[in-house]
Amino acid sequence: MDIFQVERNDGCPCGSGRKFKRCCQDRVEDAVRRIGQVIGMSGCTAEGREIIETLGFLSGLQAEDEGHMPDPETLGKILKEAWEEEDDMRSRKDEGALRGLSLQLQVLLGEKPYLRHIRVPVWLFDSGEDDEDFDIVEYLTGTGGYLFVTEAVESIRLSLLYDDYTEDEVKILLTGLGWLVVDDTRGLFFQSVLYKTRCDLLAAGKEASEIFEKYGDENKLGVYEEMRSIFQKYPVYKKMLSADMLKGINPAVKAISQGEIKINVPLYSVLGGIYAIISGLADSFTSVFSRRGVFPALIPPLEDVLLDGGELIFFFPEVVNFIGEAIQENRDDELESSLGKLLVYLTCLHDEIQLTLLKLLYMRCICTFLDELPLALPEAGVEFGAPKDFCDGKLVQQYAGYLESQGMAEEAGHVRDVYRSMGEQARVKAETQEKELVKLARALFGEVPVL
Ligand SMILES: [Zn+2]
Repeated sequence: MDIFQVERNDGCPCGSGRKFKRCCQDRVEDAVRRIGQVIGMSGCTAEGREIIETLGFLSGLQAEDEGHMPDPETLGKILKEAWEEEDDMRSRKDEGALRGLSLQLQVLLGEKPYLRHIRVPVWLFDSGEDDEDFDIVEYLTGTGGYLFVTEAVESIRLSLLYDDYTEDEVKILLTGLGWLVVDDTRGLFFQSVLYKTRCDLLAAGKEASEIFEKYGDENKLGVYEEMRSIFQKYPVYKKMLSADMLKGINPAVKAISQGEIKINVPLYSVLGGIYAIISGLADSFTSVFSRRGVFPALIPPLEDVLLDGGELIFFFPEVVNFIGEAIQENRDDELESSLGKLLVYLTCLHDEIQLTLLKLLYMRCICTFLDELPLALPEAGVEFGAPKDFCDGKLVQQYAGYLESQGMAEEAGHVRDVYRSMGEQARVKAETQEKELVKLARALFGEVPVL
């Protein structure tokens, strides 16, 4: 298989965005030549040349951060030894020794962090048939294989760059790389990864149930903390759970979106978002209304405030707390388990979907504040009667002062920060478009995103 199908004018596979000829081509060609020199390129089979060329790419592509890729001469020397040993086993027809190589590769696949991402999504094939593994290998040798191979090669490159290796371990890795690159032996690599995948899922499942037993129902947050380390050790387990959980999250997301579960967080944790909505969205009512089906939390200004503006630090613990409490109060079993999955997703799975969920909840909380005015906070001695009151300097200062008196200096500081950077602009909008704002908040209620 030609893994790096790169022409001179193609984009460079290192990901720099430049053309190959203006980026890594010279380094790659130099590496191929140097590896070939150590091994003796002229005596090589076509398959051997393919492996050397792939290794040349791994060694020649520039890295984003400085790593410790072995130099081409070292790689060539180790590859040569690996070939000699494997050839020897094959000529002796020593099946046991070859199985031993596969086992050593499986150990590496578990020990080196970057190699832990080379796994097979076996749950996609979970049909209950006995010869499931046959289906998977057939899939991998067919259409699904190319993507798997290129991703695996990239993981091997990153592992060589950033993981620590002894020379013997590099030898095993290069043996595996050789299997992966050559059509006739690729099945050996697939089988090794498949075994490792199944072992990972078994081990992770066992460790997870031990954790759940240890903490019981009492300490849910403790469970999630420990689950994170399991996810780090077994990324494939996280992938499987996340695919599985997405299906289970929908009832909770729907109940929250449609107001069946009323989500409540303190004002300071969404104030920046309220300003962003007032300023940003006031300008685009019509476009929001006309683009039905567009998930409102994807509207950019909100993401800026939440992530770059730092409101996430205040919002995240509040929303996690809220969902935790909602689980305690809930009587409906399906909803309770769905909320539990939502909580796990938010706290443990750091991916794109987690971010989308967070933005949805954030949006929902902001709309609640706008929709349910007036908001009286008698303990703070303030009342917000209309959207423009959130942008009233005096009221906001009083609210911040109250937070401070409660020992919440950071929260007070955040309130003052967002007011300083966004409050004034929002005030101008709020005064001119008050009615539309409330209407918009109501309209955004009940929008359920498609996950
Ligand atoms: Zn490049």
